[in-house]
Amino acid sequence: MKSVVINGYGTIGKRVADAVNIQNDMKVIGVSKTKPDFEAKMAVKKGYDLYIAIPEREQLFKDAGIEIAGTVDDMIKEADVVVDCTPGNVGPANLEKYKKEGVKAIYQGGEKHDLTGLSFNSFSNYDDSFGREYTRVVSCNTTGLTRTLKPIDDLCGIKKIRAVMVRRGGDPNQVNKGPINAIVPNPPTVPSHHGPDLKTVLYGSDITTVALIVPTTLMHQHSLMVEIERSVEKEEIIETLEKRSRVLVLDAKDGLGSTAEFMEYAKELGRSRNDLFEIPVWRESINVVDGELFYMQAVHQESDVVPENVDAIRSLLELEGDNEKSIAKTNKAMGIL
Ligand code: NAD
Repeated sequence: MKSVVINGYGTIGKRVADAVNIQNDMKVIGVSKTKPDFEAKMAVKKGYDLYIAIPEREQLFKDAGIEIAGTVDDMIKEADVVVDCTPGNVGPANLEKYKKEGVKAIYQGGEKHDLTGLSFNSFSNYDDSFGREYTRVVSCNTTGLTRTLKPIDDLCGIKKIRAVMVRRGGDPNQVNKGPINAIVPNPPTVPSHHGPDLKTVLYGSDITTVALIVPTTLMHQHSLMVEIERSVEKEEIIETLEKRSRVLVLDAKDGLGSTAEFMEYAKELGRSRNDLFEIPVWRESINVVDGELFYMQAVHQESDVVPENVDAIRSLLELEGDNEKSIAKTNKAMGIL
C-alpha cells in the first residue's frame, strides 16, 4: 500500500484525496491547507490528517479548534508521492522541497510543462511517466481534448485539428471571478495555449485553438473540427467513442442539450459533489463533412482530471505497468462509465 499526500486540499485536491482513498493499492496519509476554513474542518471530519502549509498560522488553526498533525515539511517526509494541487505557479517553490526530501511529485495543469519536462494523460503517454520522479497531469481542457482525440487518431489518423474552447468564467464557489455579463476572447490572441498543451501528451498533433470565457460556472464546451487521414463514416466515430471509457456519447434529444443538463445527469448518477469524470460528447454533433470530422463536447472542469491523477500515481510509483489495467482499476473503484 503506497502512501500519498495531497498538498493543497482545494477543488482538485479534495477530489483526488477521495479518489485515492477508495483504491486498494494506495492511501492518503495527509492533506494540507493554508487556511482554517470549512474545507479544513471537513478534511479532519473525514479522517484525513491535516498539515499546515504556512507554519506561522498554527495558532489560527488552534483558535478554530482544528487539530493539525504538523507542517507540509513533516507531511512529505512520510510520503511515497505528493499530489501537488496548489494554485498555479506555487509549484516551482514546492519542487525545491520535494527534491530536498527525495519524494516523487505530480503537478496539475496550472503549472507549466517546463516545471517537470513531462506531462501526463492515462490514454496517450502513461508509459513515459513510468518510474519517473515528477510529472504533470494536463489541464481539464487538455484532458478533455485528449480523451476524445486519442481514440479518433487510433481509428483513422488525424491530419489537423481546429478547436474553439468556450471556457467557464470560474468554478461554482469562485465568487470573485467573471465575467458576469460578457463574452471575453481569452486569450484574445490566436492560438490560445490549449493547442501547445495538447502536444505535450498527444505528441506530433497539428492543432490550433481559440478560446473564449463566458458567464457560466458549470462546464467548459469545445467545438472540434478534425481533418482525418482515412475517410470514415460518422457511425464508426460514434462506435469508437462509445467503446472508450471516460467518454460518454449522450443525446441532446434525451433532454441533455446543454451543459446544465449534463450536470443534472451527474446528479442523477448519484455522484459525490455532482462530479462528471467522463467527457460527454453530443451524439447529434458528430458528423463527417467532406472528409472533415466535426463534434462538440463538454468538460466538467472540477473533476475530469481526477482519475488521471490516480493513474499518474500508479505510473510514477510503478504500481501497474499497463495503462489499460490502471485505467480499469481506477474506473472500477470510482464507478466511472
Ligand atoms: P483551489 O484554489 O481550489 O485549491 C488550491 C488549494 O491549495 C487551496 O486549498 C489553497 O488554500 C491551497 N494552497 C495555496 N497555496 C498553497 C501552498 N503554498 N501550499 C499548500 N497549499 C496551498 O485550486 P484548484 O482549482 O484546486 O487548482 C489546483 C490546480 O489544479 C491548479 O494548478 C489548477 O490550474 C489545476 N486545475 C484546476 C481546475 C479547476 O477547474 N478548478 C481544473 C483542472 C486543473
